[in-house]
This record gives sequence, structure tokens and C-alpha cells, in this order.
Amino acid sequence: MTGVNAEQAKVTEAMDRLLADFPPDSVPPKEFWGAQFDAGLAWVDFEEGDGGLAVSPSFRAYVSRRLREAGAPTWNRSANIIGIGMGSGVLAAHGTPEQRQRWLRPMFTMDEIWCQLFSEPGAGSDVAALSTRAVRDGDEWVVNGQKVWTTLAHLASWGLLVTRTDPDLPKHRGLTYFVVDMHADGVECRPLYQITGEAEFNEVFFDDARIPDGNRIDEVGAGWRVSMTTLMNERVAIGGNTVPRGHGSIGQAVEAWKTHGDGNPATRRELARLWGEVEAMRLTTLRAVENMEAGTPGPEGSTGKLAWADLNKEVTAFTVDLMGLGGTTIPEGYTLEATSYETRETERVLSPQRAFLRARANSIEGGTSEIMRNILGERVLGLPGEPRVDKDLPWKEVPRG
Ligand SMILES: Cc1cc2nc3c(=O)[nH]c(=O)nc-3n(C[C@H](O)[C@H](O)[C@H](O)COP(=O)(O)OP(=O)(O)OC[C@H]3O[C@@H](n4cnc5c(N)ncnc54)[C@H](O)[C@@H]3O)c2cc1C
Repeated sequence: MTGVNAEQAKVTEAMDRLLADFPPDSVPPKEFWGAQFDAGLAWVDFEEGDGGLAVSPSFRAYVSRRLREAGAPTWNRSANIIGIGMGSGVLAAHGTPEQRQRWLRPMFTMDEIWCQLFSEPGAGSDVAALSTRAVRDGDEWVVNGQKVWTTLAHLASWGLLVTRTDPDLPKHRGLTYFVVDMHADGVECRPLYQITGEAEFNEVFFDDARIPDGNRIDEVGAGWRVSMTTLMNERVAIGGNTVPRGHGSIGQAVEAWKTHGDGNPATRRELARLWGEVEAMRLTTLRAVENMEAGTPGPEGSTGKLAWADLNKEVTAFTVDLMGLGGTTIPEGYTLEATSYETRETERVLSPQRAFLRARANSIEGGTSEIMRNILGERVLGLPGEPRVDKDLPWKEVPRG
């Protein structure tokens, strides 16, 4: 048997056994995810014992297809997107065996929710400019500063935190990356409300919060490298629209056309165009995942993120337009509420009206569309880079507002 065939046989056998021993329609989701992790089918390319079978990442698409066909729950990936979509890749690429052992399983089963503490009031697109300080004190680090727009921080057990540990070095070089206990003393979350009325994200304040050195990811000063792994995974997780064909926002557009459409051929043509574009994008994403040679995605992940941001805005706007006056009100009522555990416990479907409002964020979260274009221009197309006058200056000498 060739290497690829042997890997295929290994994955197929593990999958057959999982579905036979833990039938998805009779096993609670958390139990199923635990069994999926133990079978090495959480992230097949990870090491055995870390939720993988040490095979090529191209088998991820096969696993997703089999799970979907079997009706298995897969919404842990969106409900705990920062852990499963981003933190897992960080731990696989930069974590120690002990760190992977401690964090990966409860992340996958959703027993522990994760958040990402990168953006600050003075550092968003230019995240390397961040100011949150971590100072070493024996076997611990003492953290002070403020993060903002931290999705799910109020529900999270753990946060992916990037801090400044050496202000004398240029901005990209003086950073160190940690996993922080979100319930530790000195960590405070304050919800921020979005246009949807929901507070998905928060401000997070660190006031002499202590992090054990054992929660440091990679070397002191390697924070930028680890942050890049996080962001590349994030763009694939956000842009990787791999819901089944015709589901998600395009599914809502088709429903709206059936219910509210007036038979206008121009509207039908527009719906068909959007459907085709969403489907092309879905297949492109699946192919990109299948072709991924290493576990960590490259700058190409920005393509899907950029394209999806524009397309999802178009699709959701088309839907609420079709709904006429009904598209302008929120049927379930407009209340200000923080995202709750309950909304993470079930597969989540926003009403078309809320989905329209939520889509505004697609071109901002995970890096704005302008930044995606800069990355694609410079790192994929090889165009000249933007002028970066502060790149080699010690961070403490860079003027800040
Ligand atoms: C729903 C949502 C969830 C989020 N969740 C998280 C989270 O969990 N964790 C986290 O750390 N952050 C999170 N963010 C923050 C997000 O990453 C930042 O908002 C984003 O990176 C932009 O940073 P900024 O808001 O500071 O805007 P700025 O960087 O101030 O940008 C303002 C404008 O200037 C443009 N701009 C900036 N620099 C350039 C440039 N070099 N070239 C061209 N144009 C440029 C931008 O495109 C934008 O239009 C979230 C944001 C949203 C909307």
C-alpha cells in the first residue's frame, strides 16, 4: 500500500469505528466530540493523542464530509471558533506536549471556550504596535494593559494573549505570547454591544494579572511568529465557508425568494448569480483545505476571508431587500444582551435581519478587507510593500497617540 492509501485506510477505519460505536443520533454532542477526539478525528493531521492520526491535513475534508453525511454535530467548530479554529493550530505548531495535552481535548468538546486578546484601543490593524505589558517575576509574568473587541471573553476559560515584553526592541521583535486564565485575579471583562444588539465581544482589562511561565507559548520574544500562526488560522476559520451546499445565508436568500419573490426574472437571475458565487467559493475553500500541505495555512487564506466578507454582505442585503418592510424589523425583538452560554450550546442560526447586521463585521473582524488586500498584494502577488517607517525603531521610541 502506498503512503497515501495507508493513510486513507487508517482514517476510514477510525471513522467507521467512531460512527458505529457512537451513533450521532443517539449520543449527546459533547460525548460524541470526546469520542471523535479520542479516535484522532478532531484534527486528523495532529499527532496521535492530540486529537489526530498524524496523517496529511488533506484528510480533514474527508472527515468533514463523512461527519456531515452521518448527521454528526460539527457546530463546536463555529461555537468555539477561536479555540478550535485558531488556538488548536497555535498549540500544534508552537505548544509543548504538556500544553497540547492540557488544552486540546476540553477545547474540542466545548468544555472550555477560548478567546483571542490581540486588538487594543491603539493597535488593531497594526497589532504589532500593542502596549499591554508582561514583566517577568520569577516563574510568573505580571500583565498590565487593555484589550478590546475580545469576542467571547466573558464566556471564555482561556485567552490567547500577545504582550510586549521588551519595549527596547522594534515592535515585531519584543512580543511574547501566552495562554491566560480568564478567571484569574486581575482579569476583568466588560461587554461591548454590537449593531445586532448582542455583546459578542468585550473590553478586557489586566491589572497585575499573573500568568505562570508554563503558559508561555514558544520562546520569549517569539510572540509575533505565534501571532502570525493565529491570524493565518483565523482567516481560514472565518473565510472557510464550508457549510453544506445551499445552507447558511444563501439558504436564507432562497427561502426569502420562495416566500417573498414576485416572480421577477431579474431577481431570479440575481439570486442564481449569488448562489453560483457562494457555491464556487465553497468549493474553492474545500479544495484549498484539501491542498493544504502543512497544518498551518499561508497568506492565501486571506483570499477566502476577503471574498467572503463582500459576498456575505451582498447575499444578506439581497435577502432583506426581498423581504420588503419585514426585512427592516427584527422579529424576535431588539434587545441588548451579552452572548450567553445557551447560544453556544446549540447550532446557531441568526434571523435574516440579524444576519444582515452581523455581516457588517465580516470586513473588519480578523483583519479588515484593506489589510487582506495588502497581504495578498505583498505576500502572494509580490507587489512592493507599504512604507513602514517604524519597522526598525525601538518600540518605545515610536510616537503614539
Ligand atoms: C465582530 C468583531 C469581532 C472581533 N473579535 C476580535 C477578537 O476576538 N480579538 C481581537 O483581538 N480583535 C477582535 N476584533 C478586532 C479586529 O481584529 C479589529 O477591529 C481589526 O483588526 C481592525 O482594527 P481597528 O478596529 O483598530 O481599526 P484600525 O486599524 O484603526 O483601522 C481603521 C481603518 O483604517 C484602515 N487601515 C488601517 N491600516 C491600514 C493600512 N495599512 N492600509 C490600508 N488601510 C488601513 C482599516 O482597513 C480600517 O478601515 C474584532 C472585530 C469585530 C468587528
